[in-house]
Amino acid sequence: MNAPVEKTVSPLAAPVASVWGVGEERAKLLARLNILTVEDLLLHKPRRYEDRRKFLSIRDLKPDEPATVRGKIIAAGIKRFKKGTRAMFECVFDDGTANLHCRWWQAQPWMPDWYAVGREFLIFGKLDNAKKPRTFTHPETELVEPGDDEFVHVNRIVPVHPLTEGLTARVMRTLVWRALEKFENEVAEPEWSQLQVEGSKLKVEKTVATARKEPSTFNLQLATLLPARSNAIRMIHFPEELTDVEIARQRLALDEFVALQFQIQSRRKKFEALSKALPCSGDNRLMKPFLAQLGFKLTAAQANVLKEIRADMGGKHPMRRLLQGDVGSGKTAVAACSALMAIESGFNVALMAPTEILAEQHFRNFSKWFEPLGIKIELQTGSRKTFQPTTTSVARGKLSTFNRQPSTLFIGTHALFTAGFDLPMLGLVIIDEQHKFGVAQRETLVRKGNYPHLLVMTATPIPRTLGLTLYGDLDVSVIDEMPGGRGAIKTFVRATVKLPKVFDFIREKISGGRQAYIVYPRVDVVDTDKDIKAVTKEFANVEKALTGFKVGLLHGRIKPAEKEKVMAAFRANEIKALVATSLIEVGVDVPNATVMLIENAEHFGLAQLHQLRGRIGRGAHESFCILISDAQNADALARLKILEETNDGFKIAEADLKLRGPGELLGREQSGVIDLRFGNLAEDLNLIRQARELVKKIL
Ligand code: ADP
Ligand code: MG
Repeated sequence: MNAPVEKTVSPLAAPVASVWGVGEERAKLLARLNILTVEDLLLHKPRRYEDRRKFLSIRDLKPDEPATVRGKIIAAGIKRFKKGTRAMFECVFDDGTANLHCRWWQAQPWMPDWYAVGREFLIFGKLDNAKKPRTFTHPETELVEPGDDEFVHVNRIVPVHPLTEGLTARVMRTLVWRALEKFENEVAEPEWSQLQVEGSKLKVEKTVATARKEPSTFNLQLATLLPARSNAIRMIHFPEELTDVEIARQRLALDEFVALQFQIQSRRKKFEALSKALPCSGDNRLMKPFLAQLGFKLTAAQANVLKEIRADMGGKHPMRRLLQGDVGSGKTAVAACSALMAIESGFNVALMAPTEILAEQHFRNFSKWFEPLGIKIELQTGSRKTFQPTTTSVARGKLSTFNRQPSTLFIGTHALFTAGFDLPMLGLVIIDEQHKFGVAQRETLVRKGNYPHLLVMTATPIPRTLGLTLYGDLDVSVIDEMPGGRGAIKTFVRATVKLPKVFDFIREKISGGRQAYIVYPRVDVVDTDKDIKAVTKEFANVEKALTGFKVGLLHGRIKPAEKEKVMAAFRANEIKALVATSLIEVGVDVPNATVMLIENAEHFGLAQLHQLRGRIGRGAHESFCILISDAQNADALARLKILEETNDGFKIAEADLKLRGPGELLGREQSGVIDLRFGNLAEDLNLIRQARELVKKIL
C-alpha cells in the first residue's frame, strides 16, 4: 500500500527487474507472488524466521521442536519399494555430532544431483520421532554456497519468505537484500509522520534504540516505539533480534491503517462538504402516542441511542450512523422511533431488509404500529408490491411536505431501490441487518435518495477493529442492554448419537406449548460431502421423529408466497417445528419458539450460530440451543464450546474473527475491501485507533 498522500512517483514503483539478479525468468516467477515492483518485493512479508546465529547440533535435536541444523551430505540415494512404483529419496547429513536422515517420499529427478555427497546444507525440520536413526521427513533445506553474500544467509536471523516453485528461499532472500541495499534510502517517510501534530513535530526515530531512549514529543505515544519506515522495512526482513519483527510489523501496519483511515475519513469529509442535512428531528407529536401503545418501556440503552439519532437528524450534516445491538436487543423499536422523527418533520422514510421474510415481518409490525397514527405503509419486495412507484406516490410525498401531514414509510428488500426509481421526499433510510449488504450497495442507496439521513442496524456485534476500518465513515451507537423479562438461553454441544434424546426433549417442549427451529447447513445433499445434512432430506426424518405435530420447511428455493405461508403458520403456532437452513438467521421474531436445534454445527461460523441462537430466548420462557456436532477436531469443538460458555455477542465475534478471519464475519464482498499485508484486524485495535486519531488531526 502506498503512503496516503504521495504525490510524486516513488522510485520504489520501478519494476522489480531493476533489482540486480532479476531477469525475465525471475520476474515471471515473482509475478506469480504478485511481486511486480521493487516496493512489492520490499513489502514481501517473511512467513517465518530462522535464528542462524548458532546452530543446534544434530545430536541435540528433540522431537516436536522444529530446528535448523547445518550438515554435510555423507550418503544419498533413491530407495524403491518392492511393490508399487513409489520411490523415496533419502540422504544422510553429518555435522560432526551425529547423523541426520532426511527423506522425501516423492523422489524428484533433480534430487540426486542437488543433494550430492559432499555438499553442505542448512536443514530446517522436525524429528519424526525419538527413534533411531534421527529422521526429518520433507525438511526445508538451503544449500550453503560459500560466496560473497554468505553473510546474508548465515550468522544472523534470516527470513524465510513465501515462495513459488523455481524460487528458493535463498534466492528470494538475496533479492530482498539487494533491493534493500539499493533502495532503502528511497523509502519515503509517509507524510503523516512528518506533519505538525498539535504544534509539535512528530519525531520518527531512526532506530529502535534511540527511539526507546528519547521521550516522545508526540502525544499519541507512537514514536516511542516506532522506527522510521525504511528502518522498519529492513527490520522486517533482517531483524537483529526476533522481538524487532513485531516492532517493525507494527510500524508498517500503522502505515496501512493510516492509509485506510485516510480513504475513509476523506470520503466522509467530501460527503459532508457536498451535502446538507434535511431537518428531521421531529416534534414528538406521533412519538408520544406511539410509545404509549407500544406495550413496553424503552430500555435506557434504546433511549440513549435515540437521543444520539435525534441530535444527528437535527444536525448540519446528514446522519451516517451504525447501530449495533445484539440479537433481541430491540433495534426495531429504535428504527420505528427514528422513522417517526422524520415523518413528524414531513418526510418519507425507507426501511430496507435483507430478506423478504424480514421485510414482510416489518411490514406487519409497522402497519400495526403506524396505521393508527395515520401513516401510510408501503411494501416492495421481489414478489409483492403494495404500490407502483408512479406519480401518485411522488405526489403524495410532495403533498405531505406542504401539508405537514404524516407521510409514508416504504418497506422493502433491495428491490425497493433497484426498481430504478427515486423515492420521493426521502428524509431517512434505515438498513436493517447491514451485514447482508455490501459497502458498495450502501453507497448507491445513499446517493439515490439525495442524501437522506442514514441509519444502518446490525446484529452482528462487530469487533471494534472492524468497526473502525470497515465502517469507519459511520458513527457508531451500541445498544448494550437487553430488555428485561426474558427467559435465559441454555446452550449444549452434543454428538449425533444423542439425537433421539434431543428429539424426545423437543417433543416434550412442543407438548408444553412451545415451538422449535431445526436447522441444517444445506438445502440438498451434495455428492462430494454426503455427511453434511440437508433440509430437503431431513425434513421427512424430522416429521417422523415429531409424529403428531405439524412440521414446516423453509429454505432459499421455496417460492416467496409459500415461504410467507409457512412463516404465518409458524407464527400462529400451527406449525410446531420449522426445519430450515440458516435463512432464518436474521431478524425473525417468534417469542414462543424456545428450542433451536442445529445439526452439523461445525459447518457454521460462530457469529452465525450466535445469530441463529438469537431466534430463541425472545419470550418469558427458558430457551434451549442444542448444537449437534461429531467434529473430531479439538479446535472445532473448542470453538463450539465458546457458545456454551457465553451469550455475549462481542466476545463471540472477536473469537470468530481470530479463528476464521474477517471474511467469515462479514462476507467476502466486504472483507475484500481491506487488503492488509502487515495489519491484523483481529489484534491491532490500538494501532487502528491511533491511525484514526492521527488522520483526524491531519484532516
Ligand atoms: P433485534 O434487535 O434483534 O432486531 P427486535 O427489535 O426484533 O430485536 O426485538 C426483539 C423483541 O424484543 C421484540 O419482540 C420486541 O418487541 C421486544 N422489545 C424491544 N424493546 C423492548 C423493551 N424495551 N422492553 C421489552 N421488550 C422489548
Ligand atoms: Mg431485527
